[in-house]
Amino acid sequence: MAGFPQLRLRRLRRTERLRALVRENRVDAGDLVYPIFVVEGKGIKQEISSMPSIFRFSPDQLDAEIEEVAGLKIPAVLLFGIPEQKDELGSSAYAPEGVVQQAVRRIKKSAPQLLVITDVCLCEYTSHGHCGVVVGDQIDNDQTLPLLAKTALSHAEAGADIVAPSDMMDGRVKAIRESLDKDGFQQIPILSYAAKYASAFYGPFREAAESAPQFGDRRSYQMDPPNIREALREIEQDINEGADIVMVKPALAYLDVIRQARNAFNCPLAAYNVSGEYAMVKAAVKQGLMEERRAVMEILTAIKRAGADIIISYHAKDVARWLQSA
Ligand SMILES: [Zn+2]
Repeated sequence: MAGFPQLRLRRLRRTERLRALVRENRVDAGDLVYPIFVVEGKGIKQEISSMPSIFRFSPDQLDAEIEEVAGLKIPAVLLFGIPEQKDELGSSAYAPEGVVQQAVRRIKKSAPQLLVITDVCLCEYTSHGHCGVVVGDQIDNDQTLPLLAKTALSHAEAGADIVAPSDMMDGRVKAIRESLDKDGFQQIPILSYAAKYASAFYGPFREAAESAPQFGDRRSYQMDPPNIREALREIEQDINEGADIVMVKPALAYLDVIRQARNAFNCPLAAYNVSGEYAMVKAAVKQGLMEERRAVMEILTAIKRAGADIIISYHAKDVARWLQSA
């Protein structure tokens, strides 16, 4: 084995052409999913103060945004809904005329090729802001399952291409799979938020989706950040229940979880570059602390290098634009 001075690793770093030739990982626009917040009502396009350049749209205002996303060759959007009415059981989540259902129909009409993924959860729709049915001061797992199944089914009926349960109840992938299959939606894949941690990095999202819990927190169902073996068990359970794609969320502080999941399982793996990760970059750039494009590309490339096939990111439009101009 030759050592220095015959071996010089710097030889392949000398020019951009050489570096590009030996580059191991690349982010492609085709890897990206762009999250969109839809709010019930008409004529609404409102910037979210904690997430610069990210808006809440009423369904009738979506067309221009969808045209832009599709034009940038981003293959998919992920929809979150903010309803007018909230109640104990989150009934607006599975209403046939719910805000997400309306938005799905609108998008499938204006851009039929764009994949529409819907977030399936109750927290944006419940008066208490929890992801499941509240009994006393507990979040009841088994009573929540039929409501999630109903929500996923109503999204599929509206035309969703993929449903993505994010609640972290045990058994929800199975419940959703059974309900979809029973009603003729055997072809609709489930992207499960399989390893979703109780994270501080969701802060800005809660403002965006108006989904902060009104009491307690989500630690009785979302995962404890120090655990990685448990993440593998969660992912394994979801795959066994019928998940087609599994997700690790958040991404940046959990790159080791992404890597271990990649090594342990063969199904497609998604990672969610969450609102807090986005807001931190935006805040740092605003203060002149770093260059936005380089910082964002470094972060997304790291998520890819860790093993994610699919990256859900609020930076997706910027990234796709940069890749086009590169
Ligand atoms: Zn939720």
